[in-house]
Amino acid sequence: MSRRVLVASRNAKKLNELRRILAEAGIAEIEIVGLDDVPAYDEAPETGATFEENALAKARDGATATGLACVADDSGIEVDALNGMPGVLSARWAGRHGDDAANNALLLAQLGDVPDERRGARFVSTCALVVPDGAEIVVRGEWPGTVGRKPLGDGGFGYDPLFIPEGGDVSAAQLTPAEKDAVSHRGRALAQLLPALSELAEG
Ligand code: IMP
Repeated sequence: MSRRVLVASRNAKKLNELRRILAEAGIAEIEIVGLDDVPAYDEAPETGATFEENALAKARDGATATGLACVADDSGIEVDALNGMPGVLSARWAGRHGDDAANNALLLAQLGDVPDERRGARFVSTCALVVPDGAEIVVRGEWPGTVGRKPLGDGGFGYDPLFIPEGGDVSAAQLTPAEKDAVSHRGRALAQLLPALSELAEG
């Protein structure tokens, strides 16, 4: 019998990414469901000071409300020249939640005078897994790179058009979804949850 695991998200891309990673690892006994597949519950706002706090709070809420093991993630970009910001404020950096174009324009303007050698940045994803019996795991995946000088490409979302992953000269928005999944912060974080998910599948 398969075991249902809630991913605390309505984003089909995130749900499918974890489904793909589980399938590639040969873990067939887990059925991933999203927030739209379970009865609605109060979702606390993301007010934590760290990605870890936010991911853990979301996963605890989901596990408590549904009785299912729950995976939640929180992610963003840390820019060296901004002392690690936008960080947990990435989605609302320009003041309005999820306004990608405004966020990118503000970040570019802030880094206007910053020379190439100080434009380092990384995407960060933390993923928490909370099992209703109390087991809690939090993992972090990072994807290093630099902030470019203009938006490039139309794939991806968020800061992808500005982010030049380390070792290449194209932006994250110029990678195919499969290329991005293979190296991204979220892929790296989710991969670290595999041993715990595999145990769940067996239990
Ligand atoms: P969330 O954790 O999915 O809410 O993402 C927070 C914010 O971080 C997003 O709104 C984006 O601005 C940024 N972000 C997170 N992951 C990525 C990514 O893979 N590419 C581009 N931007 C990202």
